[in-house]
Amino acid sequence: MPLLSDHTLQRIKNAADTIYHAKQAVVLSGAGISTPSGIADFRSAKSGLWQRYDPFEVASLNSFRYNPEKFFNWMRPLAADIFHATPNAAHVAIADLEKNGFIKQVITQNIDGLHQKAGSMDVIEVHGSLETLSCIHCFQVYPGEGYIDDYIENGVIPRCPECQGVLKPDVILFGEQLPSKAWLKANQISKQCDLMIVVGSSLEVLPVAGLPMRAIENGAHLIIINNSQTYMDVRADVVFAEDVITILPEISRQLLDH
Ligand code: ZN
Repeated sequence: MPLLSDHTLQRIKNAADTIYHAKQAVVLSGAGISTPSGIADFRSAKSGLWQRYDPFEVASLNSFRYNPEKFFNWMRPLAADIFHATPNAAHVAIADLEKNGFIKQVITQNIDGLHQKAGSMDVIEVHGSLETLSCIHCFQVYPGEGYIDDYIENGVIPRCPECQGVLKPDVILFGEQLPSKAWLKANQISKQCDLMIVVGSSLEVLPVAGLPMRAIENGAHLIIINNSQTYMDVRADVVFAEDVITILPEISRQLLDH
């Protein structure tokens, strides 16, 4: 167990107390929860993914249509990391809290499926996932299994068995709308919750970054666990500018160990 200051321990108690009293607590997670699992932030300039590429040139919808090979070549190491990643202590803590009724839903900006792998049941993926692929010509949807592994292992670009069109992973590229069903649900949940726990998101990517504001406007409490500052820190009940895998398991322990 990491050595925590009295100040941090007190905030962990406060956070656990706030979660204990909430009736509709939701988690909003971002890339920061998955970096301890070895997954680079898809959209962060700091991640190294963009050092040799212009994001709008490889990971926008237009460039995907124009040059899917370039996208798939760029995406391959990231997809491999995601494919082989395992959930970390923060994912597990959230899943445990959900199982015990302390958390109702998880809204995530991540495309890695690690919340589900950790055991979370109700996950809303607002930036999509690699679980499915869609044909850019006939719009048929296919499960990622069987396509994603062949792409990662052998570099095979997935194609539609019906029309031979390129299959696009159902992740949101630059210049693309969020999946409407997931986005509507995320908005609705944010308005209805009485506690939002932001985990590993710097709240910089719109429109998701606006969800904590929706929650607060409707009277919800706010806890933020992120290793850098966010624009909502001033509005939060408890802020941890610390590592998610240090803080979340401690909060979970407070609530689940009696
Ligand atoms: Zn097709």
